[in-house]
Amino acid sequence: MSGPTPGEVVLVGGGPGDPDLITVGGLRALREADVVLYDHLAPLACLEETKPGALLVDVAKIPRGRQTSQAEINALLVRHAAAGAMVVRLKGGDPFVLGRGSEEWLACAEAGVPVRVIPGVTSAVAGPELAGIPLTHRGLSQGFAVVSGHVGPGDPASTVNWDALAAGGGTIVVLMGVKQLPAICAGLVERGLDPSTPAAVVAQAASPRQRVIRGTVSDLPSLAASAGVEPPALTVIGAVVGLDLR
Ligand code: SAH
Repeated sequence: MSGPTPGEVVLVGGGPGDPDLITVGGLRALREADVVLYDHLAPLACLEETKPGALLVDVAKIPRGRQTSQAEINALLVRHAAAGAMVVRLKGGDPFVLGRGSEEWLACAEAGVPVRVIPGVTSAVAGPELAGIPLTHRGLSQGFAVVSGHVGPGDPASTVNWDALAAGGGTIVVLMGVKQLPAICAGLVERGLDPSTPAAVVAQAASPRQRVIRGTVSDLPSLAASAGVEPPALTVIGAVVGLDLR
């Protein structure tokens, strides 16, 4: 006799927190799930949509707070699906943008567990949008780059070409960059970015606590510090920030 037929793992991008921003497919998967692994960036209100008896597991990785290791999350996904469950990994934003969704995919594939991804609305794009900042605008910006700011320019662990970014002429979106914001802004100016370039921090986008702090790449770090900005927050740097569509 063989073991139970494996269920599956669905990596669902829940969008940046507002339950209105999950996709129809993502919500359908959530409603069908036997097990849901979620974290603090996911749209928690959507958990009310799960079926009675579904097992809901908080696997948050809160910066400087409660941590669930990635290995633990991968093991939980594989264990539940291998036992036959339909498992949803509910994530904030899009599963394949600067999170560890691709590692979760690989862990399932390596264990022979069927896995698929349902894309989500990434905070990298929706956050600025909800603050009235388009990432491109005719005559101002013809493109954007999204980078991780968990390590800044000058840090040997950063694989980003910050010189190219400073000279790129497009919009720069920084995720995971609250702590490194001073180093990032100073590093970009040192590399040739105009110090008067408009810049903004969007904190807790898509939630009732959303806040937008606007300034320039030169004064944004001090403005954000006085405003007491905490993660989750993202930074947009570029001429489009000066548009202010409010
Ligand atoms: N995969 C996610 C990003 C994961 S990295 C996505 O596509 O959105 C986590 C970072 O995303 C945070 O440090 C923050 O920079 C950003 N982020 C996630 N949710 C956010 C929100 N509601 N408001 C602002 N930034 C957010």
